[in-house]
Amino acid sequence: PTILAIESSCDETAAAVVCDRQILSSVVSSQIQTHALYGGVVPEIAARQHVETINPAIAQAYRESGKTWSEIDGIAVTTAPGLIGSLMIGVTAAKTLAMLHKKTLIAVHHLEGHICSALLADPTLEPPFLCLLVSGGHSSIILVKDYTDYQVMGKTRDDAAGEAFDKVARLLGLGYPGGPVIDKISSSGNPKAYKLPQGRIPDFPYDSSFSGLKTAVLRLTQKLSPNGEELPIADIAASFQETVAAALATRSIKCAIEHNLSTIVAVGGVAANSALRSRLVTMSAENNIRAIFPPLSLCTDNAAMIGCAGAIHLSRGETSSMGIATRSRLNLEDCQSLYNLT
Ligand code: ATP
Ligand code: MG
Ligand code: FE
Repeated sequence: PTILAIESSCDETAAAVVCDRQILSSVVSSQIQTHALYGGVVPEIAARQHVETINPAIAQAYRESGKTWSEIDGIAVTTAPGLIGSLMIGVTAAKTLAMLHKKTLIAVHHLEGHICSALLADPTLEPPFLCLLVSGGHSSIILVKDYTDYQVMGKTRDDAAGEAFDKVARLLGLGYPGGPVIDKISSSGNPKAYKLPQGRIPDFPYDSSFSGLKTAVLRLTQKLSPNGEELPIADIAASFQETVAAALATRSIKCAIEHNLSTIVAVGGVAANSALRSRLVTMSAENNIRAIFPPLSLCTDNAAMIGCAGAIHLSRGETSSMGIATRSRLNLEDCQSLYNLT
């Protein structure tokens, strides 16, 4: 089916039109510049900015798709999880359009959308596969058993991977968002300069904890520069990045092997990280596992991935009621609760 999709769960206002796994148009309006002034996403400002950008984004996606309303089979929208004020703008727009054009509404779980970005990136990809989802708010290792059938094998006990990059960048005075700048500066540093903790959780081999790592970086900077001496920023950044990459790659490869999966996909903003990519590529090759990395435009928040998830659900007769509410939290395993069986 052909789906018009809307995503506004955090700080990107996005709209897209997809036909199953084919992207017909995809518009993303990022608020990163605005939030950079504050060193992180300010929810109230995010919601206000979504109000301003949502209609132009939808209009552009519709126009660029070359489709007319009569050819669109449904409207997909992220309803959970995310910032409530932000989610509400996208959901209100989706419900209004659905009523106006008499279209079916399909609610989508944001993380299911991220997983589906891999389906858009590789048309041959089919479940089962392992998904490493590493973004601003999540660090999860997910068993994709079948379309819409997920089992979360591991998650973070505290900070998400992207959050760790953002906090360490702030601590090193590198600005926001932290991931891209740490990645860049690390290329001139020695990743083995400092040994830092990978944050293993005893008895939970797929779970992560990154707050100890963040504190270890803080202690390291205090030790190296007790009186404000200049810090070896590149070496610290490279060592931190290498530690995160090793932790995530080791945990996901172990999970894939133990569950007999021959494909790993890495999605979410942190999947753009060069150290994580090279670790995963090497370790996958050593274990006869195929590694898939969607392009960055599909890794960070976008509506095409929401449309892809929406198309899958609509094909299965899973649609949502017009009264569906937004939710700031919802486990991925409970994503089927968004649908009425028709
Ligand atoms: P969620 O989906 O969990 O709600 P989100 O969608 O806001 O979060 P994304 O947009 O997928 O998160 O990713 C943003 C995060 O990715 C930021 O924390 C950013 O620092 C990080 N990031 C982006 N590029 C890189 C990179 N090259 N290396 C490491 N981290 C990166
Ligand atoms: Mg974002
Ligand atoms: Fe996201």
